[in-house]
Amino acid sequence: MMRRLLPWMLLALATSCGDSAAPLRADSYEWRLFEPTAEGGTDTLAFAWPGSSLPLRIWAQDTLGLPNHATAAIQTWQAQFLYGEFRGEMVSDSLDADVIVVAGQAPAKIRLLRSMARECEGATDVPLDPVTLILTPPFHVFIDLRFAEGTPGVETCLNLTTAHELGHALGIFQHSPDPDDLMYSDPIVTAPSARDRNTAERAYHTPTTIQLSR
Ligand SMILES: [Zn+2]
Repeated sequence: MMRRLLPWMLLALATSCGDSAAPLRADSYEWRLFEPTAEGGTDTLAFAWPGSSLPLRIWAQDTLGLPNHATAAIQTWQAQFLYGEFRGEMVSDSLDADVIVVAGQAPAKIRLLRSMARECEGATDVPLDPVTLILTPPFHVFIDLRFAEGTPGVETCLNLTTAHELGHALGIFQHSPDPDDLMYSDPIVTAPSARDRNTAERAYHTPTTIQLSR
């Protein structure tokens, strides 16, 4: 996946040449999935929840403060959109949920986006059929501790990791190459950057090429 990012990064580098005052940062990053096809080509897969599916329904296991972290994550992402392109709400029944957040290690799966901050780690299972390109919710988010609960930094880590994983469930299916972004693979920052915001907004203003199963 990182190999495919390279041309884009080189382009960003090239366009910045000659303007030494400009920071060497593009205003967004690649968020779409690149799926090899049977014919040897590549499908570029973009996804955003359609308005008819909003508010997105999120359920969190009642442990590690996950309901609070998920509530905060919803507010964090909603605040990135000017026109309510994304909205979410907590639900009390996991059977009703589009996104299920649980504590523990993620099972080994093919389409798993993993991230690891220092004190905890997260993973999001993207429920996409690689052949039909149909997405069947719910997304499963796994949040796991690497240090004991109560250790300094764990609470912050759970908070930013839950927000990071919800970013994946929103449709940001890749990691930012920049550590200043919440969607960096080893997230450090506690809130989305301007680049995260621009990327999320681009995702919600790009025609989706992944079909929802309902
Ligand atoms: Zn991630």
